[in-house]
Amino acid sequence: MDQKRTAEFVDQSWQSSIVPALTEYIRIPNKSPAYDADWAKHGHMDRAVKLIEGWCRSREIEGMKLEVVRLEGRTPVIFMEIPGTNGTSTGANDTVLLYGHLDKQPEMTGWNAGLGPWEPVMKGDKLYGRGGADDGYAAFASLTAIGALKAQKTPHARCVVLIEACEESGSYDLPYYIDHLEKRIGPVSLVVCLDSGCGNYDQLWSTTSLRGLAAGNLTVEVLTEGVHSGSASGIVPSSFRVMRTLLSRLEDEKTGKVLLKEFDVDIPAQRLQQVKATCGVLGDLIWKEFPWAGGTKPMVSDNVEMMLNRTWRPTLSLVGASGIPEPGNAGNVLRPKTTVKISMRVPPMADSERCTKKMKEVLEKDPPYGAKVTFEPESAADGWNAPELAPWLEAATNRASKSYFGKDAMYMGEGGTIPFMGMLGKKFPKAQFLITGVLGPSSNAHGPNEFLHIPTGKKITSCVASVIEEHATRPK
Ligand SMILES: [Zn+2]
Repeated sequence: MDQKRTAEFVDQSWQSSIVPALTEYIRIPNKSPAYDADWAKHGHMDRAVKLIEGWCRSREIEGMKLEVVRLEGRTPVIFMEIPGTNGTSTGANDTVLLYGHLDKQPEMTGWNAGLGPWEPVMKGDKLYGRGGADDGYAAFASLTAIGALKAQKTPHARCVVLIEACEESGSYDLPYYIDHLEKRIGPVSLVVCLDSGCGNYDQLWSTTSLRGLAAGNLTVEVLTEGVHSGSASGIVPSSFRVMRTLLSRLEDEKTGKVLLKEFDVDIPAQRLQQVKATCGVLGDLIWKEFPWAGGTKPMVSDNVEMMLNRTWRPTLSLVGASGIPEPGNAGNVLRPKTTVKISMRVPPMADSERCTKKMKEVLEKDPPYGAKVTFEPESAADGWNAPELAPWLEAATNRASKSYFGKDAMYMGEGGTIPFMGMLGKKFPKAQFLITGVLGPSSNAHGPNEFLHIPTGKKITSCVASVIEEHATRPK
């Protein structure tokens, strides 16, 4: 492909149609089913599907078949098939699977003045709003990359684009679609996933591992109704204190280290090397990107340890709570119960189901004071560790990065979870993966002030086109 023509095609597509479509997309509050149980009735998901479907059809990509697949009672999937061209070295029976999702995280609080989750705002190079970067742009960027190949009549293998609507809920609907579409997906030799992160906006970052997730709600009940704390405290144990004791079974509250051995994995030597290389490039940006309050410092002082903590070690977060009133409405009451939502990131290669079971066992065993303790697990998601990188893909990734960013590609583990990658790794053990994305420093997917860095979106789109081109001529 001609590099300049590709960059121009991609730039034109982003400016004239992707940015306007994303602007519209951000306005739709299509929260993932875990955060909107009535998603089907509300119709936001359907609006988002219609928007993306309409955009994709209007590309008029030669030979493309698009279907919105709907299995009864499940979130929909947009499925596109683009036939391969002649002139590839690998024959017709070879598929590139491009993946993204269109469901969104909930609003979250803390948006800056003038910004909001459902309010698209362009400031400089950044498009603010929920779901633009995570992961609304994926469908648009994927088809634009394919369109760039078509525009230059560049040979490419068969491409399949799959956009799901359940990712932010742990992709629990997706296995049913994978079974349903298995024959139509075909033998996948390359997976391109645009739902991941980048260490900076200066080069192409390829994700080499993802953490998994074990989650659930922990409830401690000590009374059937609240009572005057003046009369009960000292006799009735506080549900919050019992909760603290239970949480200390999971982690060392002084260091944040998770205490359960089931959650630990051996870190592969190559990944350790990559972490060191990443720290060499990013330096203190690793921790300086976060909006620290007051004099707060990182959990550890060494950057390599920080990156290992973030990508290869389990960490506990409490992401929600109930049974506790807002301070302005809180009387002196010994509350009957406390619930917290536990979100435990688990290392790549750890068995998330087993970790969840272990948490339940440890939390519910021998409750202090015989309190009523229940842990209700949510669906677990495994992490992922990339298979050994094929030489052709390593070369192609680096060439793409040099062409469109002007710098070498980098390899980095991510601390988040993309459940589909774990599923795909099992289903297509021979497939190669290019997992990348626009979630770089301060882009803050899941939090307030999420933004999409448009120049990075464009460059990544060109890089994807370039890698698909090289995939078609790779040595067999
Ligand atoms: Zn995402």
